[in-house]
Amino acid sequence: MKLDTSHMRYLTTDDFRVLQAVEQGSKGHEVVPTLMIHQISGMRSQSGTNRAISDLAKLSLISKMRNIKYDGYRLTYNGIDYLALKTMLNRDTVYSVGNTIGVGKESDIYKVSDKDGNPRVIKIHRLGRTSFHTVRNNRDYLRKSNQGANWMHLSRLAANKEYQFMSMLYSKGFKVPEPFDNSRHIVVMELINGFPMRRLRKHKNIPKLYSDLMCFIVQLGNSGLIHCDFNEFNVMIKDELEDENDCGFVVIDFPQCVSIQHQDADYYFQRDVDCIRRFFKKKLKYEPKPDSSMLDTDGFGDGYKYAYPEFSRDIKRSDNLDELVQASGFSKKHPGDRSLEDAVESMRNAAYNSDEEAEDEAEAEAEAEDEDEDDEGVDSEEEEYYDSKSDEESSGDDSENSQEE
Ligand code: ADP
Ligand code: MG
Repeated sequence: MKLDTSHMRYLTTDDFRVLQAVEQGSKGHEVVPTLMIHQISGMRSQSGTNRAISDLAKLSLISKMRNIKYDGYRLTYNGIDYLALKTMLNRDTVYSVGNTIGVGKESDIYKVSDKDGNPRVIKIHRLGRTSFHTVRNNRDYLRKSNQGANWMHLSRLAANKEYQFMSMLYSKGFKVPEPFDNSRHIVVMELINGFPMRRLRKHKNIPKLYSDLMCFIVQLGNSGLIHCDFNEFNVMIKDELEDENDCGFVVIDFPQCVSIQHQDADYYFQRDVDCIRRFFKKKLKYEPKPDSSMLDTDGFGDGYKYAYPEFSRDIKRSDNLDELVQASGFSKKHPGDRSLEDAVESMRNAAYNSDEEAEDEAEAEAEAEDEDEDDEGVDSEEEEYYDSKSDEESSGDDSENSQEE
């Protein structure tokens, strides 16, 4: 979805007031009645409200809903984009919006700058726009729970969770982008000058990079959290090192983190370890022996001692970030917002429930593009990576063939 901010400066205070009223009314109504919009907005005249409504509708910031018993409007993704950006402009965390630099599975990433011209990134969460396969389970869940496809609500929750995770992790010294702000479904964060590890083919110390990544997974676990989508798309390799202690990578993409108290913690932890192990084996031709001691190797600094960390052996809680951020599964007494948890979990599971054959096929195809891939190439490749996994899940044994077509 494109982010079109061109009309932002033409909107009046009244327009924003009415837009905000639609947003507020949306909490209780799928379609907000016109009269209610007027009441919430606090506008003096109904005709003023109507004028603003008509301007907002022309810009597709709200949309009129037909075939219902009453006249009303719904906030669109454009509308919520405008509201979030306006809040960030007012807080001086964003000054201008530049080009898109990445399209994730459930997000759009733009380069922005603050008022001093410093480059930053906004991540706009857009849950629900992935392929039908991937979100099938979420839709089932939403239907069952009578929530309707309230993706906008889930996108807000996801952005909010991600901001909280990142703030906590950054303050504890984890290598994550510095988070600056969060409004609604958007997070503002540090721009990482680098590229996704997916594109890495050469590195000055591959064993150390491997070991440092395992160390990250274990330290995250000791702090109470499991990333749950720890793969080559969510590790950024930096173009330049800050100092000799800089490990050269930054981990991104946190909304789906779970607590080490989660009932499937062991499984999620092992899956993160395996994703990295598989990538190093296939693409970097590096596979440490299971019993090798990673710390004995020359050039190892603070990497992890075991080549393949194990949840039950290696995780020794030293912090409670999961409880502070109320990560999914952190306590039965505090179930948190089940809608986000269920949506995100089923999305992740759908993406991963496949055998490795399908991934091999998808990656073999993607390999051909490696030479001259640009950012767009990487995006579609990432889609392929996740899609292939969810397609696998739905097509069973035939999948290998269907991948070859
Ligand atoms: P999704 O949850 O949709 O996968 P990600 O957070 O993984 O979203 O971001 C998608 C892509 O955008 C990343 O693979 C990366 O290329 C780019 N990106 C995300 N955050 C940053 C950042 N802080 N700096 C630079 N690039 C980023
Ligand atoms: Mg990602």
